[in-house]
Amino acid sequence: SAMIRLDGVGVTYPDGTLALHPLDLTFRQGEFTVLLGLSGAGKSTLLRTLNQLVVPSSGTISSDELGVIHGSARVRAHRRHTAMIFQQHQLLLRKSALTNVLTGRLAAHSAWRTLLPMPADDVTLAYQCLQRVGLADKTFVRADNLSGGQMQRVGIARALAQQPRVILADEPVASLDPNTSMQVLEQLSRISREDGITTIVSLHQLELARRFAQRVIGLAGGRVVFDGPPSALDSAT
Ligand code: ADP
Ligand code: ADP
Repeated sequence: SAMIRLDGVGVTYPDGTLALHPLDLTFRQGEFTVLLGLSGAGKSTLLRTLNQLVVPSSGTISSDELGVIHGSARVRAHRRHTAMIFQQHQLLLRKSALTNVLTGRLAAHSAWRTLLPMPADDVTLAYQCLQRVGLADKTFVRADNLSGGQMQRVGIARALAQQPRVILADEPVASLDPNTSMQVLEQLSRISREDGITTIVSLHQLELARRFAQRVIGLAGGRVVFDGPPSALDSAT
């Protein structure tokens, strides 16, 4: 089933930069998609548009659950079950791994709920998320004492704590060495498969796309130049 659908979605930034030419794309439930492209191709714009952090200049975004996502109530509902993972992990460096994961729970709650203390259930869930990324022993370690790969895994745990239907990961391994990159993508793909989470990850390494993607969308100059299984990349390149 179609989880998220873009119809004629294009993005021109206020300064006139045409970052995405109008495109139609469907992301299916549970699919692990890699957006592959060089710097400036429009990967980040597409991911931010999917979370409505960037408002498209044309077209509509819809989900199976909400229909066309417009208006602040639907945008909020959409974001609540859409978790983000960033290149620079965006952790609170002076806080523990657990506290960082709990901020994912905050994103899952409605605004009024965030004014109240965290219930014990949320702490339990956050701990379980750390266990799933193999970091149970780092629960109370401050983020700035973790390695780059561990920080990124805390970022995955924080996304999971939001109990998302969708994960959007913007160059999550760009600042990691090749081995650590493999480990992080391995975990992300395993978890999204186990939980049936629709996952869209931007990368610029063909080899990593080939290895982890179920579907690759190639972007260049704000256009889709490839859309298919990684096995079809060989004949396309
Ligand atoms: P990628 O993630 O593939 O590197 P981006 O989506 O960041 O690509 O960028 C696509 C194009 O849009 C580039 O030309 C970039 O310079 C431009 N761009 C990105 N963000 C902005 C912005 N906030 N304002 C103006 N132009 C932007
Ligand atoms: P408002 O301006 O109406 O308060 P926000 O845009 O601040 O709305 O946030 C709406 C909801 O989306 C909140 O639950 C918030 O935690 C969540 N949210 C905000 N930014 C992101 C993001 N980058 N990724 C995922 N969820 C987000």
